[in-house]
Amino acid sequence: MPAQNLLTNSDIAELLAIASESAKQPLQKALRRASRKAFLWPEEAAQMIQQDRSLEELPGVGPSLNRIIGRWIQDPPDVPKPPEIRAGFFTAVRAAEILADNPSWLHGVKGDLQMHTLWSDGTASIEEMAQAAVARGYEYIAITDHAKGLKIAGGIDESQVATQAEEIALVNAAMASTAKPFRVLRSIELNLSPSGAGDMEPAALARLDLVLGCFHSALRKKEDQTERYLAALRNPDLQILGHPRGRIYNFRLGLTADWRRVFDLAAELDKAVEIDAYPDRQDLSGDLVKLAAKAGCRISIGTDSHGPSQLRFMEFGLASALLAGVKRDRILNFMTAEELLNWVGSVRERSARRSVA
Ligand SMILES: [Zn+2]
Repeated sequence: MPAQNLLTNSDIAELLAIASESAKQPLQKALRRASRKAFLWPEEAAQMIQQDRSLEELPGVGPSLNRIIGRWIQDPPDVPKPPEIRAGFFTAVRAAEILADNPSWLHGVKGDLQMHTLWSDGTASIEEMAQAAVARGYEYIAITDHAKGLKIAGGIDESQVATQAEEIALVNAAMASTAKPFRVLRSIELNLSPSGAGDMEPAALARLDLVLGCFHSALRKKEDQTERYLAALRNPDLQILGHPRGRIYNFRLGLTADWRRVFDLAAELDKAVEIDAYPDRQDLSGDLVKLAAKAGCRISIGTDSHGPSQLRFMEFGLASALLAGVKRDRILNFMTAEELLNWVGSVRERSARRSVA
């Protein structure tokens, strides 16, 4: 079989999604799930078959999926162009290839700027997330548990944020003696209303090291949403606009806007827009990262990890930024903790001046 005819994991993901549409339960659910999981497979399935290996080595692949996918690989069907709801997502294999050509990017990352812990909907403690980040060679992480407005994700209120600060201080004190300096930064995933307002007291937010703000409601609107993005960026309490489109693989398209205006305003205010590197999100998507790169605004990469093993999703975000031509000095994650905090300080000062003027 000539190499150019090999199905990629991304092709297989699309075939699985298409097959799920005409399948009966419980197969339908299994195929849909496998379509998402294919993006995480660490190797090309087609190459595994060439090596006479079973696809059951792959997470989430059992005997029946092994048979179905194996047949496709042996006799590749046509793979149509994915519909928009599944278009423009990197596979782990593709992201790793892109990074292999630029190893300094992966090694240069100093921190991860979005993750959740047991305080909201994560599965691990702050300390466990910190240890996992140290193992990756990071100098800092930002803990961004959900704010109180997002009840479904266990959002925390002002007093819980204050208690969380005590825990973070303890973790930081315990880690102060490690060989390489490491710091847990206090942050939050502020829940933004469609008008760009946050759900927490500004005074509580001002005590955090940095603030990420995200939309979680009215995400299926078809009309242009430029105004909500401009309002969110002008919100003086936040520095990073997280998972801007609100898209989710094979589930939700996300919002549309005049992105040039959005990124121009971000550049003018020196605020950052996020590449949420969670595989199902990859939001900003590659096409929008390109526009953001052109506008010259700052980019923050957050894995949106809900457990320690997900910190590796950083690769999806880095690959997207690399491919879009984002300059390294525009990416927050390459800053030291000190540089990052200085930037937050200057953005806050600028916001304060604007509100006085
Ligand atoms: Zn979110």
